[in-house]
Amino acid sequence: PAPSQVQVNLLVEEVLGLLTQKTRYANVKLETYLAQGLPPVMASPAELQQVLLNLVNNAVDAIGPGGGYVTVRTSHQDGQVLMEVEDTGEGIPEANLPRIFDPFFTTKPVGQGTGLGLSICYGIVNKLGGTLSLRSNVGQGTSFTVNLPAHGGEA
Ligand code: ADP
Ligand code: MG
Repeated sequence: PAPSQVQVNLLVEEVLGLLTQKTRYANVKLETYLAQGLPPVMASPAELQQVLLNLVNNAVDAIGPGGGYVTVRTSHQDGQVLMEVEDTGEGIPEANLPRIFDPFFTTKPVGQGTGLGLSICYGIVNKLGGTLSLRSNVGQGTSFTVNLPAHGGEA
């Protein structure tokens, strides 16, 4: 897929629009904080959509029956564009962290998880010259941050 200039804020709106039903059903409140003047990034739009879709799907899946919040934030600093997906879900046990980006690593029941989402995200972000990092606290939640080189200055 050919790279082009992608406006990350627009992409966030598009992807979250696809998840309205799922989040409602899961009792999840979606919140967005989109930075103004965000520079574009060079990416295949479909690939970058897939990254965000996987991260938000995981975030929603991590939230228990009581419901919770998924927050998507964009920002930019030092020539980088950041896209963060934070949830108030179950968190990731430290023992799972070394394998979290491995293909086929899943803690979901058979038939509900392929374990491919994060490994695909990692590959795409890496190919674009970016990084994918996370912070997690069991019982409190998780946040994944996609860091991509900005293409040009402020929009
Ligand atoms: P899958 O969603 O099919 O299980 P992924 O590669 O997307 O595969 O995720 C791998 C595993 O990482 C999940 O099964 C889950 O254990 C853990 N995980 C990913 N995102 C989160 C999250 N936001 N909160 C808690 N656990 C997560
Ligand atoms: Mg997944």
